[in-house]
Amino acid sequence: MVYKQYTMRGSKGVPYGWRCPDCGKLNLGVKGVSSAATYDDRGIFVRLDNRQAKARDALNASLDKRAMNAMLDAEEGRYDKLNLSAKCAQCGKVPPWANLNMKLPRAMTLVRNICLIGGAVVAGFGLTGKDPMASPSFRVALAALALGILLLLAGWLILRKRYSDVKPDIAALPKESLPHMAQTGPQLLQRLVQDGLLGGAEAEAMGAQPGSGGNSFFADFYREKAAERRKSRRTKLVLAAVAVAALAAFFGVRAVNSDNLKKWQAEMEAADPFATDPDAGSLFGVYEKRYNGEAKFVKDYINSSRLAQTPQDLGYIVSIEDERVVVGQYSIGGNSFKRDAYKVYTTLRLFDRHTGAYVGTPVVLEGGDPPRSIKATSTNNTGSRPGHYEITSAITKLMAQVETD
Ligand SMILES: [Zn+2]
Repeated sequence: MVYKQYTMRGSKGVPYGWRCPDCGKLNLGVKGVSSAATYDDRGIFVRLDNRQAKARDALNASLDKRAMNAMLDAEEGRYDKLNLSAKCAQCGKVPPWANLNMKLPRAMTLVRNICLIGGAVVAGFGLTGKDPMASPSFRVALAALALGILLLLAGWLILRKRYSDVKPDIAALPKESLPHMAQTGPQLLQRLVQDGLLGGAEAEAMGAQPGSGGNSFFADFYREKAAERRKSRRTKLVLAAVAVAALAAFFGVRAVNSDNLKKWQAEMEAADPFATDPDAGSLFGVYEKRYNGEAKFVKDYINSSRLAQTPQDLGYIVSIEDERVVVGQYSIGGNSFKRDAYKVYTTLRLFDRHTGAYVGTPVVLEGGDPPRSIKATSTNNTGSRPGHYEITSAITKLMAQVETD
């Protein structure tokens, strides 16, 4: 089946006018309506330009419908739906029917965005930590998210309050202070004359009278509006590009750093991490040795701001060493089957690379008990390792034994 679809987007301006209730100035503006139309034909051979013409017709019909709805809304006083922005060009009064969508004040929008973006970024960092309760960045992330949500809630409440404050004022306005709309500029000016908002001579000066040649006033007006829209679109594009570039740079740098980190850590693991170096820096590394003999530097347990990022930074090594100790035996049918039961003990020590010696008192943590009973085929004869939180707390205390900046 041949199936073709065309989607077109377009916008249209609906001119409106209102008389300022404070200073009497006649204000004019254009309400933008935009629309997308989709036209498809299934299995029918139609010339390409015909299809596009049909899509354009559909778009225009949709735009006309929206413009008509906007005018109906104005006539029926549904200014919240109409969402007009207006400000008196002479005295600066904002009529109560304007901006009923009540945008947040700029400063508030900025703070909200910072909170939301910051909250998301910090939360992303926090969530990469394995032990949420021990990771300060996770708590910061939670706080930032909570703050972001609170601000959004506050913004929403302010909007609702402002909306309900403003609504009764509209009913009290004289009719001419409400927006009058028409499909074209000249039609609007004629309507304003009819409704007594505009004197005939004034309208003629604006080029509104029949036979005077039309809508030069609104032609200029539309040109200005279109230029403004282009400018704001450009600004948004530039901002979006900057944001994308900043994010890419941020994650790029992180990826490179993490690669370098892995590289030198692997080199040191292959040599001897516990070698003396009087010129070493003041940051930390965590070197973990499991009871199966596997030993390596790990990123867990300490805040990344105190973690050495280069071999020169590495002044202190937190050594974590697991040991398995026999604490009992499993047996079946007397002595015919015997297997050892183990418990894991983890020893934490702080090594000073400047002096090549261990500092302070080592901490020994006791793991969980081995299972009470096991199946003959099971290899699960060892108790759990001390918990992540327990290890992290002990490390924090160990690190406090050396004063570093
Ligand atoms: Zn005014």
